[in-house]
Amino acid sequence: MRFIYSPRYVVDLGGHIFPTKKFALTAERLKGVLPFLEPTSPSREDILLAHMEKWTDKVLDCHMSLEDETLMELPFSKEVSLAHQLAVSGTILACRDALDGGVGLHIGGGSHHAFSDHGEGFCVLNDIACGILRMIEDKKISRAAVIDLDVHQGNGTAQIFSKNNGVFTFSMHQEDIYPEVKQKSSLDVSLPRGTADKEYLELLEKNLPLVFEHHPDLIVYQSGVDGYQKDILGGLGLTAEGLLKRDLIVRDFCRNFKVPVAVTLGGGYALEIEETAFLHAQTLLCFVE
Ligand SMILES: [Zn+2]
Repeated sequence: MRFIYSPRYVVDLGGHIFPTKKFALTAERLKGVLPFLEPTSPSREDILLAHMEKWTDKVLDCHMSLEDETLMELPFSKEVSLAHQLAVSGTILACRDALDGGVGLHIGGGSHHAFSDHGEGFCVLNDIACGILRMIEDKKISRAAVIDLDVHQGNGTAQIFSKNNGVFTFSMHQEDIYPEVKQKSSLDVSLPRGTADKEYLELLEKNLPLVFEHHPDLIVYQSGVDGYQKDILGGLGLTAEGLLKRDLIVRDFCRNFKVPVAVTLGGGYALEIEETAFLHAQTLLCFVE
């Protein structure tokens, strides 16, 4: 086993609310646990698996309109483009690791708001979709599922796979926050503001069997920790212990059904960035065997 990580995930975005430094702080906490592998840039074809040619070229050539940047809520630059490209490779590598050894661990990725033809909500390229579609294209798998437990709906992932019966998308998210207009996942569970550990974990355990009824050959877990009670952008009431239990439930389901799982990070915006790093590291450590 190994952790997939690139120091280039950390990009100076000025005073932006997206704390890219959390990737480095998470990696720091995981040093010495397992070896690290650094992804290299993906091929254009890797990106085209999930994205339209026009969007792919905009990202690769760094030609964004003001409208594109506004929708992404990101100041675009070569560094941002590279970071998000590397995250695509990172999740592809994590998917390969999952198929080879049961578990793939990416200290990054989870850009579930990236649609086939545009970026949104801090997301440029949908690494989850690229990872799954690369495995399908390489004939390593024929079916897959996404378990998305970020506090925000996995709208981009849902859109990309909306006409793909081989990929089951499950998103459990807070109802009354971004994205205002939700997409239709294979299974959506909307939560009211303030949902706390007990109710959350019960709903998770009740709904996860539906994901496995799809008989996926691979799961990609979007393990965003913005459901944390002290998150700035989220409004759920999950504790650190509740998030740990959440991750253990997902892990045990994957183990019991013998489905390989690639773990990606997703959102996390606690006031104290070290808390976010702690929670991301906690997730990945659950999956270390
Ligand atoms: Zn989020």
